[in-house]
Order: sequence, then structure tokens, then C-alpha cells
Amino acid sequence: MPLCNIPGQEVLAEFPRWRLARTKTMKQHRERHMLYFREHVKTLDEQSIGEAYMLLLTIGRKYFSYTDRWTVFGPVYATVPDHWHRVASDLNPGSEDYEQILKTPRLIIHTDQMTIERANPESLEGLPETPSSACQQGTRSS
Ligand SMILES: [Zn+2]
Repeated sequence: MPLCNIPGQEVLAEFPRWRLARTKTMKQHRERHMLYFREHVKTLDEQSIGEAYMLLLTIGRKYFSYTDRWTVFGPVYATVPDHWHRVASDLNPGSEDYEQILKTPRLIIHTDQMTIERANPESLEGLPETPSSACQQGTRSS
């Protein structure tokens, strides 16, 4: 599924630096989207990533208004690793990828208050001394 070649009629929305399309397989979700950078790049700077998430939040208000919660997946299980994108989906427990969702680090957005919650795979929670937690315990100079 080369993101560069998604036909124009499948693009839901265009932004100066991004495109939004439904994912090829919906996996029994009513809405499942992919926001991807227009250019073929694998990595982006922090500000661009922030821009992408802000866009996803704005887009989600419109497309996910039918459900009380929706999610943006972390890139861990991305099927297209060479083109920067993020997938947003509703959280239908009956969907065919729900098991996979629970294994994916993700953000959960609550539609009514627009609150954002971070969810990690249960199997990874409570692991001692991950590099990030070790870092947080270190001394900060700034
Ligand atoms: Zn590409």
C-alpha cells in the first residue's frame, strides 16, 4: 500500500503538507483513517509531528462524532514503515483488529470533553527500568 500512490478520489481531505485517506482495510470500523505526509519521508521533525497530531484532533472532531472514544495509534505496528503516517480509528470492541489495538501504544481521545489519555499495551506495563523511565529518574539540568 504505497501511500504516495493513493488515488485522488480516495483522499478525504488535503492540507498544505498532509493528506487524509481512509485505510484500505477498515477492519469493521466505521471510520479508520490515515494522515500521511505529502512527501515520501520516513521521519519528521518534532514540530511537524505536533502539527500532525493537532490536525488529527481537529479531523477527529468531525469524523468520530458518532462515538464516545477514538484512538490514534503509535507507529509500532505500522504496515508502511517508510512513509510517515498515523492511523486513527474508533474503538469498536467487535472489530477484527481489536486484539491488535490492545497491544499497540495509543492515545485515546474522549469525544465529549476532548480529553486525551495515553494507553500502553498491558503486557508492557509495569516492566522495570525501561530506558524512558530511567531517564525520568535522572537529574535534569534544565
Ligand atoms: Zn511514500
